[in-house]
Amino acid sequence: MNRRYRKTIIAGNWKMNKTPLEAKTLIEEMKPLLAKCKWCEMVLCVPFTDIQTAVKSARGSKIAIGAQNMHFEKSGAFTGEISADMLKEMGVKYVIIGHSERRQYFNETDIDCNKKVKVAIAAGLRPILCCGETLEEREQDVTLEVVRKQIKIALRDVSPDDIKKVVIAYEPIWAIGTGKTATAEQAGEVCSAIRDCLRELYGARAARAITVQYGGSMNAKNALELLTQPDVDGGLIGGASLKAPDFAAIVEAANQ
Ligand code: PEP
Repeated sequence: MNRRYRKTIIAGNWKMNKTPLEAKTLIEEMKPLLAKCKWCEMVLCVPFTDIQTAVKSARGSKIAIGAQNMHFEKSGAFTGEISADMLKEMGVKYVIIGHSERRQYFNETDIDCNKKVKVAIAAGLRPILCCGETLEEREQDVTLEVVRKQIKIALRDVSPDDIKKVVIAYEPIWAIGTGKTATAEQAGEVCSAIRDCLRELYGARAARAITVQYGGSMNAKNALELLTQPDVDGGLIGGASLKAPDFAAIVEAANQ
């Protein structure tokens, strides 16, 4: 973390978990545990059906509500889809774009991510853009190339002014939901390469202000070590964001 230049952001990704009633209960449980948080922003990216309840439950706390996906068109004949404007009007502040599960199970491409990032920003949402390599790519030693390519395509035509609204989440696919975490050095190396890439695209000043999170089995035990890396500015957390004490412990680590 480097709080001098950028915000630390701890974001939970609930994936397809929690009904609205369960969401309310979990947020009510989290609120007192997160009340002391001073130095970081906290976000909960909840299923679409939980948004209304989550926004209401989080009111009066420092928790912002995010979505996990959106469509890149403004409106139209896209049965089952949700637009950026719809999210914005419901009180959503952040939206995850290009999570590896969306890429893997719903064939989302870097070009789709690019369209979504631009539409999200235009609607007043902050995209959390995910990138990361497969195990095979890491073993082939092409991690940095893969991540650079994902970032460059997804950020194409995003203006220097708009890049400030983007959060990048580095999520090695082999670490998501597997219990295997990248070492602090691995996470630090890739997050630093992401910042180098942002520097090439937007200059040093913009690059040093962008929050780059790590995601992949981050938990109460390993969070502090990961967050001590200078280019790791927070976390995108799946499993551990479904338990109030675990999420609170990660937030506490980010506040040290
Ligand atoms: C995620 O869903 O983005 C994630 C990192 O999940 P987990 O923390 O469960 O690995």
